[in-house]
Parts: sequence; structure tokens; C-alpha cells
Amino acid sequence: MVDEETVVVRDYPIDEPAIIVHGGAFSKGVDIGDWGEKASAVAEKAARRGYQILSEKKNPLEAVVEAVKVLEDTCWLNAGRGSILDASGKISMDAGLMRGWDLQFASIANVSYPLHPIELAYRILQKTGTLILAGHQADIMAALEKLEPHPGPCPRAYERWRKVLEQRKKSKLAKPYNQLYPLGDTVGAVATDGNRYAAAVSTGGILFKVPGRVGDSPLPGAGFYADSHGAVVATGIGETIARFLLSYRILRSIPNNVKKVLVEFTGLMGPSTAGVIFVGKEVSGYAYNGGGMPWALCTGNSCLKGWR
Ligand code: ASP
Repeated sequence: MVDEETVVVRDYPIDEPAIIVHGGAFSKGVDIGDWGEKASAVAEKAARRGYQILSEKKNPLEAVVEAVKVLEDTCWLNAGRGSILDASGKISMDAGLMRGWDLQFASIANVSYPLHPIELAYRILQKTGTLILAGHQADIMAALEKLEPHPGPCPRAYERWRKVLEQRKKSKLAKPYNQLYPLGDTVGAVATDGNRYAAAVSTGGILFKVPGRVGDSPLPGAGFYADSHGAVVATGIGETIARFLLSYRILRSIPNNVKKVLVEFTGLMGPSTAGVIFVGKEVSGYAYNGGGMPWALCTGNSCLKGWR
């Protein structure tokens, strides 16, 4: 049985247009210091950027791509510049995006070249009929597209990796990652112009992941989904999110059954495993089953932000 308080859902009435972004989710009981403040400040900057795009009458996909690029540009979050490291000490990133109005999506998996993986996914959507491009060939496309190259891991990412390495040396146990570790600071955005919906997500994956591991973020229905009713992106342990098709199921549950779906998910996968943001007709919000998630929502010419 999942304790009712384990799952938190907050939703807000929205005007059109609207955009909500997030900077990952964290486990219950973890001391996050001032990270919540820092991450939600970046989230607000990203949401404002996306809202500006929507105000210029550009489409919601352009808005979520631009918002995610802001989130990919900080060392405080696990995407683009701030991507965490895999077990071999390297960066490998996943990203995905989707247009709700024609169900077109594009994803990239296990790339290391671009600073902005979401931009690479966007080029793939615009220029190819390919849905998912992975690994070396995706990196080659990023180079051919002259995307800005990744400058290498942030000190924060390296420090987090080093701590896990030390712990592992001490315990000599290969712990499976079945809970947020303790931060899963993947990023995402969903937006609407009132008629159309779009979703975008970008991540360095799970800290100390098996090299080559692909998470939920490039998988439609799992890490993201958008259709003519709304858009959702997820964050958390990809191995739980993908098995449940969390984004698709949450999308189907807007506006009244979001909590019910996340409670069902939590019953199967455990607490501190996921967070989502969503937008649908006249409503937007976020939900999580851990300690919180940094978020920011812009609509009606004003923005809100927080991390619980
Ligand atoms: N969902 C991402 C993954 O499993 C990680 C995260 O959300 O922090 O790759």
C-alpha cells in the first residue's frame, strides 16, 4: 500500500500560452542544501525563455527546445553541460522531444559530442524521418551540423562521480540503482499555445550508469509524450519509468487522475523513483513520489517556481 502522502501532485489553472519546466527530482529525506533554490532559479530562467518564444507566436516545440537549452547550460543540472558521468567516468547523454499535433518525435541516445543534445534531437526531427538516433552516428551528425561541442564534465559532476567511486570501493558491493541517487537532476519542459502541445527532455542519465546504458528519456511514452490533449515529461529512475510508460499514462490521466496513476506506479516501483510535469487543457502541474522536484511555470504573464 502506498501512503497517500508519498505522492504529491500540484496543479495550476493556466491561461494560454503556458510552459512548465523541471530540473529533476530528489529522494525523500535527503539534505539538498541550497540546490533546490539554485535549480529552481535556473528552471525559472528556462521557463521565462520558453514563454518569450510562445509570446512571439512561435510553436510550443520551439518553446520547449529553447527552454531545455537553458537548462542544459548549467552545471547545477544533469543535462548537457552538467551531465553526470557513467561508471567509466564518461559523459553519455539521452534526449527526446515530441510535437503533439502530428505525433512526430525524435530522440538521441548515448551521445557525447553536443553541448545541447536537445538541439540535435530537434535537427533530427526537422531534417530526417528518423525517430531515434544513437551513439557514434548521432555524434557524427552533431559534428556535421556544427553544433557546439561539449566542453567536458563540470567539477560538480566529477565530484559526484568520485564520491560514488569511493563508496563503491569501500562497500565492494555493486548496488543497483533502484532509487534516486540521491538527486536525479534530468531536465524537461512541456508547453502549450492553447491548441497545440509539445514536450522535450534531456539527461546525462543515472550517476555511475553502465556505459552505453540508455534510460527512459529518449523513449516516447516513457520519458516524454505529447498529443492533441497535452504533454508530459518524466524524471527519475529510467528503468522504472520505461517499464510503466509513465509519461503516456500520466497524459491519459490529466486532469483528475494524475495522483491515482502515480500512486499505482509507486506501488509497483517504490517511493523516490519519479517525478513528472504535465500540461493539458487549462491546467498544468507537477507530481513526484520523493522529496520534491525543482520546477517553474509561466502563464498569464507571470511565473511561479519552487522545489516541493
Ligand atoms: N530518467 C533519467 C534516466 O534514467 C534520469 C533522471 O531523470 O535523472 O536516465
